[in-house]
Amino acid sequence: MANERVLVIDDSIDNSQFIVDCVLKPNEYQALVAYDGEEGLRVALAEQPDLILLDLKLPKMSGLEVLGALNENQSKTPVIVMTFHGSEKMAVQVFRLGVKDYVLKPFEVGEMLEAIGRALTEARLRRERDELTTRLMNSNAELERRVRELNTLFSIGKSVTSLHNQDRLLTRLVEAAIYLTNAEEASLLLVDDQAEELRVLASRGIDDPHFKAARWPVKESLAGQVITTGQPVLLNRDDSPASPLPDQTQAMLFVPLTMKERVRGVLNVNNRRQARQFSNHDLRLLSTLADYAAVSLENAQLFQQVESERTKLATVLNEIEELVIVIENETDRIVMANAAFRRVFGLGPAIIEGSPLFDLVQNEAFVKFIASLPTEGLRRTQIKLADNRIYLATLTPVLGIGRAIIMQDVTHLQELDQVKANFVANISHDLRTPFVSLKGYTDMLGMVGSLTERQSLFVDRISAGLDKMLALIDNLLDLSKIEAGFELESEAVDLGQLTTEIISELQEVASLRRQQLVYHAPPRPAQLLGDADRVRQVVTHLVDNALKYTPENGRVSVIVRVTDDQIVFKIEDDGLGIPSADLPFIFDKFYRVEDKDRSEIQGAGLGLAICKSVVEKYGGSIWVESEYHRGSTFTFILPLTPPEESEATQPAVVGSEVMPTA
Ligand code: ADP
Repeated sequence: MANERVLVIDDSIDNSQFIVDCVLKPNEYQALVAYDGEEGLRVALAEQPDLILLDLKLPKMSGLEVLGALNENQSKTPVIVMTFHGSEKMAVQVFRLGVKDYVLKPFEVGEMLEAIGRALTEARLRRERDELTTRLMNSNAELERRVRELNTLFSIGKSVTSLHNQDRLLTRLVEAAIYLTNAEEASLLLVDDQAEELRVLASRGIDDPHFKAARWPVKESLAGQVITTGQPVLLNRDDSPASPLPDQTQAMLFVPLTMKERVRGVLNVNNRRQARQFSNHDLRLLSTLADYAAVSLENAQLFQQVESERTKLATVLNEIEELVIVIENETDRIVMANAAFRRVFGLGPAIIEGSPLFDLVQNEAFVKFIASLPTEGLRRTQIKLADNRIYLATLTPVLGIGRAIIMQDVTHLQELDQVKANFVANISHDLRTPFVSLKGYTDMLGMVGSLTERQSLFVDRISAGLDKMLALIDNLLDLSKIEAGFELESEAVDLGQLTTEIISELQEVASLRRQQLVYHAPPRPAQLLGDADRVRQVVTHLVDNALKYTPENGRVSVIVRVTDDQIVFKIEDDGLGIPSADLPFIFDKFYRVEDKDRSEIQGAGLGLAICKSVVEKYGGSIWVESEYHRGSTFTFILPLTPPEESEATQPAVVGSEVMPTA
């Protein structure tokens, strides 16, 4: 490579001249010349030439001394020694002092050129290698720094997303801001709801004791500028001495904190004492951290909201008088039970969550109610607990969890109901006799004298009204008899056969309304023990209702199925359906659904109450699933009685209740 600078140190003017004129200049090397050792050393150190051609015998300082001094000064310039004396001893000495080559005087031009070329190439290669090594070391250091930063960001990301305690999270964030940008101070500011003021959520490294309580107007502060524009602000004293940096501040960096697409805060780092300026790389790091901060703040806020809702809910659940328990579907393990439930079932304050419910609660009616549940819809029943109180239990499937049971103490309502039932039964009983004779006399009116056409019409209307009243009284009396358990025969009844008869009786009613009435009978006897008239009453009423509440051209289908120990009766229609708000009360006495589609349909709201009483008297249960304007499905289940048992065994009568035999 041309233009390299070569220093010739030689006291012989001829020799120096020869080298400059014949070797260096023609080959485009720049020549520097010194005629004694001292000058040579000075030029060598001051000019740092690319190569030194050094004579050993020099005035003021010998060649060996020059070499020694160059070494002491850690000179990297290669040296070629020129001498007349070629002793081995000296060669060893000069090579020890780092000399690259050795040329004996007198020398040929070519010989010297070759030595110069070799030494310079070697020096060039060494320089390049050194440069490469330095570059490699620099990029290694840079890479290491980046890896450290990434690791820091990663671990911050991990810890902030798992931290739900907002205070700890914020502290971690400002500490990380300082660490990543090598800053002295960091703070995290959040804007208030009206977007007028910024307040400090967390800070580190700031001495001012009032800083945390300070407020900054969004309109006039640097942080506020970030809120308004959504852009970061980077201010370095070195870049712009006239910048709006506060006094005694060397560098400031603000990045926006964006939550739900709105800038809600600012992450800031400052340098006051140290002059270190912030770079675009610091800006990128801080922005990444701000993204983490935004996500984790949102998470922490959500978590806190959920937590406070959960606490509120838990308090409400524990304070209310109703008994509440939630259990898992597959395992029947307790998910939660409120204080009232624990108290009434005597479970104490020990942790019961996770225990199988039936290990702790043995009340037969309760266990049976929970065990025989449908997967959807809502179930209600009354359960008598050990303290002789009666609870209305409602069982609701809870999606993804299991089922919730809420129990309300209805003992006082039951007592009231009983008083009311007795009153209604007495009144009905007392009314029946006069109504029967009224009906008799009314029907006889036409027989004891001729009536005008209008009188006959009035008599017919009175008679029809009396029929309705008598039907209502009969229903009321039926209900009180069933509830009291009187008159309940126990005979073998084949529900399949009975349903066949009822369906064929009601086919005519269905065809008058152009309705399709379909029956799927069971392949084997569906035998139960009960009062045939009462069972007939239930089936007739359910089929009657399905036809009544299904418009013309509708379809009603009845299915009776027999399982190992149960008879399932299902009646499905595509009629008016029942609004979900009415469903829980549909089996209550006198409860009727009021809407414009039913305004013409007569009824007293007693039929389903009778059905429920009969089914429950025989140890079964009845429920409805319905979709308003789509149709309804009423289902009841009764215990199956194997044929031989029905002949041999009579049901046990306990008090007023008829218990089905096992
Ligand atoms: P009612 O004498 O009013 O028919 P019920 O006790 O038999 O009394 O029925 C109570 C209420 O339930 C009725 O008013 C009716 O609106 C509703 N209902 C009963 N069965 C059905 C059904 N299959 N489809 C729609 N609604 C029904």
